[in-house]
Amino acid sequence: MSHLNIDKIRADFPILDQEINGKKLVYLDNAATTQKPAAVIDAISGYYKGYNANIHRGIHHLAEKATTAFELSRKTIKDFLNAESTEEIIFTYGTTDGINLISQTYGRSFLSKGDEIVISTMEHHSNIVPWQMLCEEKGCILKVIPITDDGELIFEEFKTLLSEKTKLVSVVFASNALGTVNPIEEIIKESHEVGAVVVVDAAQAVSHIDIDVQALDVDFLCFSAHKLYGPTGMGALYGKKALLNKMPPWRGGGEMIKEVSFEKTTYNELPYKFEAGTPNIADVIGITTAIEYVNTLGKKNIADYESGLLAYATEGLEAIPGLKIIGKAKNKVSVLSFVMEGIHPQDVGVLLDQQAIAIRTGHHCTQPLMQRFGILGTSRASFAVYNTKEEINRLVTGIEKVKRLLS
Ligand code: PMP
Repeated sequence: MSHLNIDKIRADFPILDQEINGKKLVYLDNAATTQKPAAVIDAISGYYKGYNANIHRGIHHLAEKATTAFELSRKTIKDFLNAESTEEIIFTYGTTDGINLISQTYGRSFLSKGDEIVISTMEHHSNIVPWQMLCEEKGCILKVIPITDDGELIFEEFKTLLSEKTKLVSVVFASNALGTVNPIEEIIKESHEVGAVVVVDAAQAVSHIDIDVQALDVDFLCFSAHKLYGPTGMGALYGKKALLNKMPPWRGGGEMIKEVSFEKTTYNELPYKFEAGTPNIADVIGITTAIEYVNTLGKKNIADYESGLLAYATEGLEAIPGLKIIGKAKNKVSVLSFVMEGIHPQDVGVLLDQQAIAIRTGHHCTQPLMQRFGILGTSRASFAVYNTKEEINRLVTGIEKVKRLLS
């Protein structure tokens, strides 16, 4: 099933080795956030213990060391996404922050009344609300790509939404609620045909799918480090240099300026123009180690292993009478959402928690998607590289127990 030594990988994640309610923890909430290997935790504490200093402005040893480590992360992310230059990598505090940056700078500057923005039915709230706010302010129109009952985008419908009025298309690469992997390359091609700029929400894709921003020809792409075995409160926005250059800055303050006087301020170059204030230095440093960790395992190995887990779990859950899987796309990341006849998802979550099995329940910040399926929420198990078939067996047995207790 895999070239990976899963026992060894598990040993890299200190948090996994614990009991809850007297039972060994089974962590299946990886789409919400992944756990962190000891190497990442050590890299973060190593900064605080050994070279905590503010970056860029200092000339003393610690400041230089911190600046070097901080900028190394930019280079690591540039290589990870195959961006052309480090100027195209803006540190953010996550996917949400990145999308808001685009809507508040690119959107406010280059979109106007009557322009159309296309998103899809399966977007996370963070890829809906920033565009609604922009529409409210500028009088733009939001269009939504419909999906099939299996949770796949209806590509033909998407094409009919596109016209010369479409100025921006923003879609999720992989859905956090359904697992669906969207045909991003084709979406980008079609959107560019009508001259629209494309934003990709790669929050869920980044730990499972190889991303090459140049091959994709994507205009903007956002991700969060915490879904990539890295720290919370940190992420990156990739943007094509030509676009970032013509965008105005967003937050004003230190670091993003060249010169300030009370009469006039000139702004810094890329990428600093978009990075006002002291950043999250420790966590930015942590991402280098997280990416190195993923690169060492190999994304393809990770994806192959996880798809084996997904297939195994899908088979196990489908055998449970009254359980229905929501999201049956042909191409999925390792996310498994389901509903159970007559049982509230919340109860599934609580009763599994009593068995030390951590899953997520609710609308997964995708309320319009839940409305599309006519449900209030789902229970969702999501797998990472450290999960095992034994844990999936625990999940299946756990759900069977929930069923016995509640029906
Ligand atoms: N998009 C998707 C698909 C997500 O899964 C998430 C996180 N659940 C986000 C955006 C938002 O990410 P963050 O909260 O890290 O900003």
